[in-house]
Amino acid sequence: MFENVVRPEIRSLKPYVPGRSIDEIREEYGLECVVKMASNENPLGVSPLVKEALGRHADTVFRYPAGGNPRLVKALAEHWQTDASRIVGGNGSDEIIDMLVRMLAVAGRDNVVCFRPCFSLYPIQSLIQGVEIRRQPVNTDFSFDFDKLLALVDENTRLVFVTTPDNPSGYCPKPDEVKALAARLPRDCLLVIDEAYMDFAPAPGESEADWSLFKRGDLPANACVIRTFSKSYGLAGLRIGVGILPEELASYYWRARLPFSVNILAEEAVLAALEDAEFRELTLTTVREGREVLTRGLTELGCTVMPSRANFLMFLPPAQCTAKDLYAGLLARGVIVRALASYDLPAWIRVSIGNTAENRLFLKETAAILNEGGAR
Ligand SMILES: *Cc1c(COP(=O)(O)O)cnc(C)c1O
Repeated sequence: MFENVVRPEIRSLKPYVPGRSIDEIREEYGLECVVKMASNENPLGVSPLVKEALGRHADTVFRYPAGGNPRLVKALAEHWQTDASRIVGGNGSDEIIDMLVRMLAVAGRDNVVCFRPCFSLYPIQSLIQGVEIRRQPVNTDFSFDFDKLLALVDENTRLVFVTTPDNPSGYCPKPDEVKALAARLPRDCLLVIDEAYMDFAPAPGESEADWSLFKRGDLPANACVIRTFSKSYGLAGLRIGVGILPEELASYYWRARLPFSVNILAEEAVLAALEDAEFRELTLTTVREGREVLTRGLTELGCTVMPSRANFLMFLPPAQCTAKDLYAGLLARGVIVRALASYDLPAWIRVSIGNTAENRLFLKETAAILNEGGAR
């Protein structure tokens, strides 16, 4: 009945493909033990301080949250030593991405520029808005050619998205290159720097300021940064992301955002998570060490592993096994990874760094599948 009246932008959408869930796979394959290394979640779960805070605040959930999330904004401004008037919150950074497209780009006139492949929300939310999306393929080694990206920009380009470190490859461009890109964009074109994985970027002895313009206090006037509490802080299920926007855009953002999209418990969880420096350090160490272990293990098994500064690795299985077969084989053995067909990379697999036991299981099952010469 509604087939003919649903907006054409919506009718032509392919559904977003999320990582498969543990329950789904347990049921489908009749498995007792299933591990998920598909959605770049925190391998240590959630901070005990957060759990305690969620319990303590359970009896406040009959209240509406305060408009504009003032406590959250204040805490983050202090934590990041940045101006509170530039900070916005969203129901995941997904909401911030969607909001930025809706705030700036006019359907049928403006365009949005990003790489291919990239995080799927940038093109999808643009298409939903009826906004043209222009995409520059990444280089064959998955690095970025900013000159070519810039060649797609014209006077109707409202947003350029850059993910650093990138998903799904783990590539991290040099901050000075990102800064140079911002300098060459028209003043009224917003560079969105998606730093969902930035906390994982620094090698031992480095700091985030070596990789993040925001962290080195050097964010260009026409750029914004988005960060999420879903990955390193382990709050994916509570849905909370933050943006640091040019001040005038932040003010428009708060006018246009749904009033209560960040809920009371998410806000309390962030306040508690910021207090737990120990859990955070342990997370970063676990990911850094796990990244080494998995890189070494996969390489020994004949896989081609892309160097990654994020909490996941993208790799090509050896010639005797396709990504599709390895993905299916791992699923049947209770290990969920991410097949990258939805990123137009059908030959590749992305695996999130797990905890010690998960990493060991993943390598063991991968070895078993590769040694039996493919699918089972
Ligand atoms: C996971 C991810 C996000 C966001 O997640 P939210 O859970 O919506 O905060 C944003 N950008 C990239 C590139 C991601 O991989």
